[in-house]
Amino acid sequence: MSIHAVPPLTDAPAQVLLAHLAERLGAAHVRTDPDEIALHLREERGLYTGTALAVVRPGSTEEVAFVVRECAAAGVAIVPQGGNTGLVGGGVPYGGIVLSLARLNRIRELDAVNATMVAEAGCVLADVQRAAAEAGLLFPLSLPSEGSCRIGGNLATNAGGTAVLRYGNARELALGLEVVLADGRIWNGLTALRKDNTGYDLKNLFMGSEGTLGIITAAVLKLFPGIRSRATAFVGLASPHDALRLFERLRAAAGAELTAFEYMPRFALEIVLRHHAAAVRPLAGEHHSYGLIELASPQQDADLAGIFEEVVGAAIEDGLVEDATIASSDAQRLALWDLRERLSEVQRYEGGSIKHDVAVPVSRVAEFIDQATAACESEMPGVRVCAFGHFGDGNIHFNLSQPVGMDRNAFLAAWETFNRIVHDIVREMHGSISAEHGIGLIKRDELPHYKDPVALDLMFTLKRALDPANILNPGKVLALGENLPDAL
Ligand code: FAD
Repeated sequence: MSIHAVPPLTDAPAQVLLAHLAERLGAAHVRTDPDEIALHLREERGLYTGTALAVVRPGSTEEVAFVVRECAAAGVAIVPQGGNTGLVGGGVPYGGIVLSLARLNRIRELDAVNATMVAEAGCVLADVQRAAAEAGLLFPLSLPSEGSCRIGGNLATNAGGTAVLRYGNARELALGLEVVLADGRIWNGLTALRKDNTGYDLKNLFMGSEGTLGIITAAVLKLFPGIRSRATAFVGLASPHDALRLFERLRAAAGAELTAFEYMPRFALEIVLRHHAAAVRPLAGEHHSYGLIELASPQQDADLAGIFEEVVGAAIEDGLVEDATIASSDAQRLALWDLRERLSEVQRYEGGSIKHDVAVPVSRVAEFIDQATAACESEMPGVRVCAFGHFGDGNIHFNLSQPVGMDRNAFLAAWETFNRIVHDIVREMHGSISAEHGIGLIKRDELPHYKDPVALDLMFTLKRALDPANILNPGKVLALGENLPDAL
């Protein structure tokens, strides 16, 4: 069976299709006004801008299935969209329609005893967190974009974020899914079971598939005991190797209570302080790098600060930590997190940036930072390495800012060279070229260089089986389809 490129649609059939959709959904939910749909045509960082016949906003799973059947019959591509906060160009349409899940935003059920919630795909992540908290429970997925990304998008990208160390990626937080398939059938896989060994794990096909295999319309989410004690520390370090040693000590002392271990180099902290007026230097002196570490427990009054005092105190005595502070109020804790969460934003004020979202085994993360930094600095003297992120997950956002005074476009022209340098080191360390953001368009053409060829072949086989006409997000993740820009 072959996969076809989606044919361009001439005006007349497009108008017939849109009229059918408007008849069922209501004209207000089939938007074609260029100003209204503009925000749906570009990705967060403005790296890609596409085109679409319309932005279609179904209000129920049945309406999603209707839209898919109509589009399949007309051979029109469908790009599912949640909050459109993805960073890899996966939600940008190149023809066809954008299918926005925003109106599927109900929490259908919360079962506190089973510790599960059934949420529709269009629920904003922060609303899901809030609903869990109101029941005294926790939905732990947490990203800087949580005020606008939606749970369907989180699952479709297998999002990571700041609590993966303790709770896992989005994939580990869903027990069941409801999915509209490429032929318009609805798969009701909304099981709320912790154990179900009845064959293939279908839900895991759709999570992380970035809208290329099916449209997630609802999910059964796992909830956890609410957090009642928390302690947050900010430490100054002399190297990423010291960060790794401290991480090992804290994991041994705190176990599952260690929920976040984030890392940033001096350059990263300095640019947050330079560009974010409210930011305050957390430690008196300057250090090579910093760790932002959080311990959390469902117990009321757990002595987490005591764990910090003991472990970090010993690390200071042993010369592993140069300086440290422990947040003494919620406001201080949020201010420390703000330093970390502003990082992606402030980098843009330093000129062009080239970004990599990679993972290596935690045991090699310090070595990776050293090796990749040396290789990039040798390739382009003056390049400013901003390697920060989820150190405790082995996930580093290995970002590069242009040398001071260099022409931005000249710097960005080195994108592929830096990709090759960084990704080759990742491969040598048995890592991944996409830790949490996905493949989308931006890494589509890199994938064949770094993915095991048998795994890649299986991915094509699944795509052919589930979407033979290639109407679901064509050209994303796998290089199928026409009229798409070259991946960067
Ligand atoms: P969208 O951007 O709308 O879509 C993303 C992809 O999923 C697209 O390919 C789209 O077609 C597909 N899709 C969307 N909804 C569905 C659906 N219902 N069914 C099938 N396919 C669908 N990501 C992290 O993992 N960790 C981070 O720490 C993180 N930090 C971020 C910080 C900032 C400031 C920003 C802007 C983004 C960050 N991201 C992060 C990236 C992004 O927020 C996540 O990828 C998020 O999960 C995307 O959700 P969304 O609803 O915006 O999806």
